Amino acid sequence: MPKSGFRSLTLSDTVYNKFFEIYSTSKDDLTLKGVNSFAGYITYMLEERMQKDETFARYAPKIEKILVDDDRVVLKDNIKNRIAEVAIQKGELFCQLCDEKSCVHVGFVFSLPDVYKVLNAKGIKSPR
Ligand SMILES: [Zn+2]
Repeated sequence: MPKSGFRSLTLSDTVYNKFFEIYSTSKDDLTLKGVNSFAGYITYMLEERMQKDETFARYAPKIEKILVDDDRVVLKDNIKNRIAEVAIQKGELFCQLCDEKSCVHVGFVFSLPDVYKVLNAKGIKSPR
């Protein structure tokens, strides 16, 4: 039984081992972010995931992904009825429609899991 104020969660070995492996290999990185345990890592990941889902849910019907290229993402803004092109410039995302680095389009790009993966690999961080 977990101690008071905590709940336990049962995972299959496969799932546990997969996450634990990732946790083990990124331990140093995580320590810098204040994550010091495996449970902390899971919490951190879920929180990050939920924030992205919220962003996605907030904008999804209003903004659509049209095209993802190596260094740009083309979106359709259904509110402005315009095409927004978000490009990678000097290691940062830049929206050419708004002429900004932190508009809704840039936020939306970060909420796309497949794009986020690519950005992360390039070392580009969300501007929040
Ligand atoms: Zn924009």
